Amino acid sequence: MTISQAEPALAASRDGGVYEALRARLHGSLTLPGDPGYDERRRVFNAMIDRRPAAIAHCADTDDVVTVVNVGRQNGIPLSVRGGGHGVSGHCVVDDGLMIDLTPMKGIEVDVDRRVATAQPGLRLGEFVLATERFGLVSPTGTVSDTGLAGLTLGAGFGYLNGRFGLAIDNLVGAEVVTADGNVLHASADEHPDLFWALRGGSGNFGVVTAFELRLHPLPQVLGGMLIHPFPRAAEVLRFYRDAAAAAPDDLTLYAALLTAPDGNQAVGIVACWCGEMGEGERVLAPIRAFGPPIADMIQPMPYSTMNTLTDAAIPPGARHYWKQNLLRELTDDAIDTIIDHVGQVPSPRTVVLIDHVHGAASQVASEATAFPHRDTPHGLVMLSMWDDPADDQTNIGWTRSLAAATRPFATGGAYVNESWDEKPRAAFGANYDRLVQVKNRYDPANLFRHNTNISPTGEA
Ligand SMILES: Cc1cc2nc3c(=O)[nH]c(=O)nc-3n(C[C@H](O)[C@H](O)[C@H](O)COP(=O)(O)OP(=O)(O)OC[C@H]3O[C@@H](n4cnc5c(N)ncnc54)[C@H](O)[C@@H]3O)c2cc1C
Repeated sequence: MTISQAEPALAASRDGGVYEALRARLHGSLTLPGDPGYDERRRVFNAMIDRRPAAIAHCADTDDVVTVVNVGRQNGIPLSVRGGGHGVSGHCVVDDGLMIDLTPMKGIEVDVDRRVATAQPGLRLGEFVLATERFGLVSPTGTVSDTGLAGLTLGAGFGYLNGRFGLAIDNLVGAEVVTADGNVLHASADEHPDLFWALRGGSGNFGVVTAFELRLHPLPQVLGGMLIHPFPRAAEVLRFYRDAAAAAPDDLTLYAALLTAPDGNQAVGIVACWCGEMGEGERVLAPIRAFGPPIADMIQPMPYSTMNTLTDAAIPPGARHYWKQNLLRELTDDAIDTIIDHVGQVPSPRTVVLIDHVHGAASQVASEATAFPHRDTPHGLVMLSMWDDPADDQTNIGWTRSLAAATRPFATGGAYVNESWDEKPRAAFGANYDRLVQVKNRYDPANLFRHNTNISPTGEA
């Protein structure tokens, strides 16, 4: 389906009041520098990002998005797109440009019979999960409830349910998209299949997604939580973790985390999420819970919406963040020892180093079936550096880069677009890059949507 948007042009020069004209046309609202709330509305998750857009358009509906896209294109104004504002490199806010803020668009419809949720792009993961769970249904998300559904889903969406249900993109069955020419398209396996392919992992390159149609699955509860071990035992815990993850059935996803506990001691945690039958989960998890034994075992039955909040406090908005990620070919003994050596010298107690777990349904999808190519790496090493004082920027950035460089020999060279600071498009999109360029040429030949991990229409990365 294509709805043509024959919009009268708002083509006055920027100095000629284009923003006042835009303000009058929006169903939502427009915030300009100097307006009340401007500083709060340009703020994003990462306090390192301090950009000053020329205007922030708070879109109330798809028509508003069409209007803003047309204004940006007709007036040569740089556009950025904000879902939940959690992209750590801050692409969603652009200096002197027009920020499309989708925060007000939080609608969701749950079709229980079709088991599909149609969700607007301003929803946070926690809001999305609570809305579907009322019907006993869930779709896989990420691990922190405050993260935006939109950016997470367009990048791929790793989380605790990926062994059983796949990544978030594997559950995307359709999307409404405002493209660069101001048209509203519906993309699915049958309609604009090239665009639908590119949306699943191509990040924000192809238009503004105004509705996500996500497949739902019955899931009454999970058996999950964290096991905490003392840091001096990290080497044996991570070796045990590696072997347990390799043997895990699809219903069990296991993350590891190296962090500093509130008492100031470093620790290593294993986060488990079992999403199968509860009795079987108790049996499968028993040896994992017995190992060590841990100094704390917080595993218990809970709704997925609670599982989705367990690490919220460890990765809060408002801190200074610098993240890097290496997709590991395997978690070798040498890789483990290198990680532990560096974490032993971490400059900030707020920093978390995470090892995620991609397996089961997520790894069974062919790497060219969606734009996200990295299906065959069992673990991502995610270096989440966090600190408060700008005076500590160089120390923490330097430490993060040093850990990334030291673990690069164990990595594929690929990158997950959602979890790194300075992602390179070819590393992010791998063998799918050239096909993505073709889709970009078709839907955004002038590169209107360029404030992202950009796929240039010329193919130049
Ligand atoms: C605390 C925290 C926890 C995280 N945990 C996970 C995790 O468990 N698993 C995981 O896979 N990732 C995780 N991430 C990474 C997360 O997926 C990315 O940061 C993602 O970009 C966040 O989406 P957002 O909508 O909040 O971000 P935004 O900054 O708003 O958006 C990021 C980019 O996505 C694009 N975009 C956003 N909305 C749209 C739209 N509607 N249409 C078109 N383009 C759009 C834009 O290019 C934008 O710059 C986490 C991030 C944080 C900060």
